[in-house]
Amino acid sequence: MFTEIFDQTPFAAGSEIIRSKKKEDVEKALHQATRGLSLDFQDYLSLVSPSASSYLEPMAFLSKKIKKERFGNTIQLFMPLYLSNECRSSCLYCGFSYENKIPRKTLTEDEIRKEAAVLQSKGIRHLVILTGEDYSKTNLDYILRAISILRESFDSLAIEIYPLDTDDYKTVIASGVEALIVYQETYDREVYTENHYRGIKKNMSYRLEAPDRGGKAGFRRIGLGALLGLSDPLGELYKLGEHAKYLILKYWKTSFQISLPRMRPAAGDFQKIVPVNDRDFVRYLFALRISFPDIGLVLSTRESKTLRDHLATLGITSMSVESKTEPGGYSNSGALKQFEIEDDRSVSEIVFSLKKSGLDPVFKDFDRALLRTKECF
Ligand code: SF4
Repeated sequence: MFTEIFDQTPFAAGSEIIRSKKKEDVEKALHQATRGLSLDFQDYLSLVSPSASSYLEPMAFLSKKIKKERFGNTIQLFMPLYLSNECRSSCLYCGFSYENKIPRKTLTEDEIRKEAAVLQSKGIRHLVILTGEDYSKTNLDYILRAISILRESFDSLAIEIYPLDTDDYKTVIASGVEALIVYQETYDREVYTENHYRGIKKNMSYRLEAPDRGGKAGFRRIGLGALLGLSDPLGELYKLGEHAKYLILKYWKTSFQISLPRMRPAAGDFQKIVPVNDRDFVRYLFALRISFPDIGLVLSTRESKTLRDHLATLGITSMSVESKTEPGGYSNSGALKQFEIEDDRSVSEIVFSLKKSGLDPVFKDFDRALLRTKECF
């Protein structure tokens, strides 16, 4: 399990290693990448480091080139579907946190069908299903019933719900789910404890091991990420890279994707945001693209239209569109959002914009039959 190696390099030490990288280290990493050679973990850290900030142009060029070689001009589009905002956990930065006095809602089966119909009418084939962490309201039976409804309307289903045991993940896969998304939020143990003080999510190690359990269960795709804004971003990038490297080697049949959501305003009065500016943010994405050429890079509607349009041409492989972060938000908006979104363009507006940039927006690149094919090997 990743937890067995996690504490060998503490969070702060990882950040210090990145800060110690010099311009010569960055140039060496870029030279390797330009020659088409693979980079090692130290090269990745060099590209993440502040010393790489004056090399954004060659990093953007390489990101674009690598993305084109590995993924062509495609950008996969997906939408999130929030089944519930009920949550027994307390995460200081989240609008759904247990203490927040907000209207709570868990979708009924009919309401799930209504939401699915709206998304289907927009042409969406890839869906991410989300819930809060209230096992009494959204237990595994509820999730499986939702999956059986949604798999009729969508080709690819991903879950971004509370972490499960390996056998439960196997059940979820057997029900027709392709992908598991489980962001660690922060890899900083101290900050994790401060921000998650109640509920299942308090158990950091259980969450940290969720991608391992997902890999063992056999998910075709697993998404990792850190919520930028909770702790030192360099420490997050160190541990996230370490996590990705470990998982890619260990679960080689699974494909991995990474997202770097930045903190957005939410209900509650979370004040302690560690800001990450645009230049640093894009450097982190370029470093990931260049160092892990085969991983997917996901960009959410938390980011601005302008930034999304630029990054779509520079290494991103997948984007959420027209996201509503409240349960029932597509068919009957009213409950509370988990966080505010920045890019509120419609699916057709984003498709238009991507095509204008020479990209191929993709709604379907997966068929559930592939899950059965995989079982034959
Ligand atoms: S981040 Fe997830 S677990 Fe934490 S309060 Fe929000 S919905 Fe609940």
